[in-house]
Amino acid sequence: MKKFLLGTNWKMNKTLAEATDYTLAVSEIITKYPQFEFFIIPPHTHLWKLRELLDLNKSTLKLGAQNMHYEDAGQFTGEISPVMLAEIGLDLVELGHCERRQYFNETDETVNLKALAALKHQLLPLICIGEKMSDRNYGISREMLAKQLKVALKDISADQIGTFWIAYEPIWAIGVNGIPAETPYVNEIHDFLRSVLLSLYGPAGNDVPLLYGGSVNINNASEYAQLDNVDGLFIGRSAWEPDLFEALMASV
Ligand code: PEP
Repeated sequence: MKKFLLGTNWKMNKTLAEATDYTLAVSEIITKYPQFEFFIIPPHTHLWKLRELLDLNKSTLKLGAQNMHYEDAGQFTGEISPVMLAEIGLDLVELGHCERRQYFNETDETVNLKALAALKHQLLPLICIGEKMSDRNYGISREMLAKQLKVALKDISADQIGTFWIAYEPIWAIGVNGIPAETPYVNEIHDFLRSVLLSLYGPAGNDVPLLYGGSVNINNASEYAQLDNVDGLFIGRSAWEPDLFEALMASV
């Protein structure tokens, strides 16, 4: 049975000490919720230590990075390569978060190169897409999202289904100033994204996990989770404390 996905990107938060405490606590908590598959996406500097910790505790918690370059190695000061992430045994890598697109010039094309590079190194790309409020107001959300999705998935074939995930995160719903998206809107967009995946991959498109993210919290998580084409929730602030995260798990 396919498990519902629940995970969190920490962004640029938590010291190594805080990261260690959180990971130990959440590893313990998730043993009570076998119906979910969990993942955490900490800052790069913590990954090696957390990998060791998770292995030592035989934890099922999956571990991911927040970004990477698409080249294996080279003259790219400050960057981290897929080889480096694969070497420390990461499970996944988040690509194309809207903050990376907004502040670090990430484009649909670089997201695609990175997704291909991740797959080459057996890292699961978690590809984020999302439209601006102005796109929604102009009535072009679907066009924008279809473009993001199609470019990100260029040259990724149907036999790779199962080795990548998609997260729909409307930009206007993310972070402290985010407005939670209305459930019917999330439903409509996830149905649309599924139709794009079916057009790209045929019936196998049904097997691409589609996560929803953007101000998910204890009050709205279960509504989103019940939607047909929502296969997981991608959470920020509401999962950054173990007790808050557990309350959310219990609510879904
Ligand atoms: C995010 O940044 O991807 C996110 C979903 O954050 P939040 O839940 O805090 O809106």
